[in-house]
Amino acid sequence: MFRPHVVAGNWKMHKGVGEAESFVRQLEDRLEEPSRRDLIEEDLLEVVIYPTALCVHSCLISRSSDLIQVGAQNGHWEIKGAYTGEVSIGSFAEEGCGYILIGHSERRSLFGETDQDVRRKVEAVMGTGAKAMVCVGELLSEREEGRTFQVVGSQVRSAVNGLPEEFVSKRLTIAYEPVWAIGTGRTASASDAQEVCAHIRGILKEIFGPQVANGVRILYGGSVKRDNTFDILKEPDVDGLLVGGASLEVDSFLGIVDEAI
Ligand code: PEP
Repeated sequence: MFRPHVVAGNWKMHKGVGEAESFVRQLEDRLEEPSRRDLIEEDLLEVVIYPTALCVHSCLISRSSDLIQVGAQNGHWEIKGAYTGEVSIGSFAEEGCGYILIGHSERRSLFGETDQDVRRKVEAVMGTGAKAMVCVGELLSEREEGRTFQVVGSQVRSAVNGLPEEFVSKRLTIAYEPVWAIGTGRTASASDAQEVCAHIRGILKEIFGPQVANGVRILYGGSVKRDNTFDILKEPDVDGLLVGGASLEVDSFLGIVDEAI
């Protein structure tokens, strides 16, 4: 089944409002070039950025088209309430965020986000029009102990078990990000990425059947650069990339977008 590629840039806690707006304008100008614009408009490729919560609104209003989608790096599952410092997933979606990133390894390791929290956030996205991009991935020690499939499998099952098929096939994206590859310069080999992404698709097949599972985009993330994009994306179960460091400069991000085409 054909699955349009997604290239998503996670800016983490980088870029203030001015910088974010200027990035969006520059990137959009370059995506307007027909070879890129046509692919996006024909739904063959999606380009997503995840700015900080503060910059979401300015990124959204700096665009003059939908060539770039803006997502939220995190959000709270409740619609509103006494949760000082939080922003709800519902309000990000209402603002115009097309994607909500959920369970990034930095959220899990630095802010104690659990599989249960991830599940609540996925369910909160279901109540909006946005798509969920759920991050999963093993620690280096877990890989060395031969537990990659077990760890990733249980993260995936807990996030998706029992979800409606319609949501899974149309609005769920999974990003496989081995924790040892994030921000380290150490990328998984294309075959390692394929092996785990295929395992994830296998779990989705087991739960939802092949038709639903074959519609879900599974991304790889972890020290992606232009140089390794092509090899990773030619793997059959890898449908896109979640990019951290290399998404911060327009040229390097666009280099990856171009390889994904
Ligand atoms: C990330 O933050 O999701 C990520 C993959 O970062 P990097 O590309 O810098 O490894």
